[in-house]
Amino acid sequence: METNLFIGGKYVAAAGGARFVDIEPATERELAQVADAGAEDVERAVAAAREAADHGPWPKMSAEARGRIIGRIADGIEKRARELGRLEARDVGKPVSECVNHDVARAARNLRFFANAAEAWTQEASYGDAKFLGTDLKLVSLTERAPLGVGAIIIPWNSPLMLGTWNLGPCLAAGNACIYKPSELAPLTAIALGEIANEAGLPPGVLNVLPGQGAAGAALVSHPGVDGIAFTGGVATGKRVMAAAAESLKRVTLELGGKSPNVVFADADLKRAAAGVARSIFRSQGQSCVAGSRLLVERNIADEFIAMVLGDMRRLKIGDPLNDDTEYGPLISAAHRDRVDSFVKEAVAGGAELLAGGAIPEHPRPGYYYLPTVLNRLRPDAPAVREEIFGPVLSVERFEDEEEAAAMANATRYGLAAYIWTRDLERALRVAARLRTGMVWVNSFFLRDLRTPFGGSGQSGVGRQGGRFSLEFWTEPKLVCLTYPEHEASR
Ligand code: NDP
Repeated sequence: METNLFIGGKYVAAAGGARFVDIEPATERELAQVADAGAEDVERAVAAAREAADHGPWPKMSAEARGRIIGRIADGIEKRARELGRLEARDVGKPVSECVNHDVARAARNLRFFANAAEAWTQEASYGDAKFLGTDLKLVSLTERAPLGVGAIIIPWNSPLMLGTWNLGPCLAAGNACIYKPSELAPLTAIALGEIANEAGLPPGVLNVLPGQGAAGAALVSHPGVDGIAFTGGVATGKRVMAAAAESLKRVTLELGGKSPNVVFADADLKRAAAGVARSIFRSQGQSCVAGSRLLVERNIADEFIAMVLGDMRRLKIGDPLNDDTEYGPLISAAHRDRVDSFVKEAVAGGAELLAGGAIPEHPRPGYYYLPTVLNRLRPDAPAVREEIFGPVLSVERFEDEEEAAAMANATRYGLAAYIWTRDLERALRVAARLRTGMVWVNSFFLRDLRTPFGGSGQSGVGRQGGRFSLEFWTEPKLVCLTYPEHEASR
């Protein structure tokens, strides 16, 4: 397979014909030769997006008219659900059932949600007076929301369709043009979106897709023609993006990593909690920003509960991501698998007990597989407890009471998500109030209403996405103020 960049509504080769090889994680073989965007291509894409944002029809259309086109992109995604799901499964290594039933479905839902939200988003008017100046003047203030202009959307490799549309939805619905930069490790579904957007009637230049190897992202975030950046990825890259954005005072939102705790109290529905803990860490092979990578369990039930999690973990069907019944596939790359393994080895060398996994599975197939892994009795300062591994590794810690549970949960530089498992809702609310995370799920995980804020504090990011949070990010507020009755200054 050979793919091209998508610029100004057309698929085009990279300047100089540069390409890079995209590897399929389950086979370790070449999946595609991907056009590699460089600085010249970034210039072309920014020029196309600027033209669309400054002179094209898109920003001038009503939110309803834009919404109809975005809705047709969602229809196009659904029409190709199986094809896109298989492509994502091959590119990322995630099970095809997860790709089709969750990621593709969410991609369409993301777009429709923001298309409708932008239309329903009423601009504000406020009525006031200037009595404090001893006048009888009345003020009518309109807060209008204009599109920001050109957005750069930079996405990691773990869920390109889902995360890409989560950002594209509000960016486009608010009337912006955008440049979407997927990760070099999994760019294929992002590239496919260009064709779907053309079929839906999106004006040329409103969506541009630039796969490239880091250099394209760096050129994009420092380009003066880009007005806003929505970055999803690692902490170190996020800091570089923010520094580059500061040079030209671009608006930026950062969705970074996490080290999210599952806090399990003895009064929880333990069966449900164990299944939830296993799913929250081993789904997508742990390659999820909101993975529940730390298990904090009340000491008096710890052994029983850990055995239940191990039981759920052992039932996971490991295999070819393209089989419909596979629940657990390979990691994204050999380098990432080595990184995951190094955390486990370091923890074990430091005295941790390996309860499961910690190795490559003994099966004849190729692929960057790594067994679901559970580490027990770690030192509290072990990197496996403190740092984001972004892989299928669960670390276990024990607590005595709520006080200790909250302190342990907060002992991390991240602050993305937390999961509380208890039947006592008052306790759930008490503990939730004490956790320094952007999101807390009680007796559930991942499922969310798209109107609510998504994002984290600390090293997990800056800003929030979802509903009006996203629409506010992608628009520039403008005050239009009227006074009446006529007075001196207006004569
Ligand atoms: P990276 O930070 O390495 O890369 C993310 C994206 O940034 C890629 O598209 C990458 O392109 C691009 N990029 C690399 N260098 C630059 C630069 N200097 N300027 C601009 N863009 C650049 O993350 P990974 O792809 O390895 O993804 C894993 C990380 O993503 C994890 O830490 C995870 O927690 C986080 N993540 C956060 C989520 C959230 O919502 N909070 C959701 C999912 C993941 P290229 O690959 O071509 O180098």
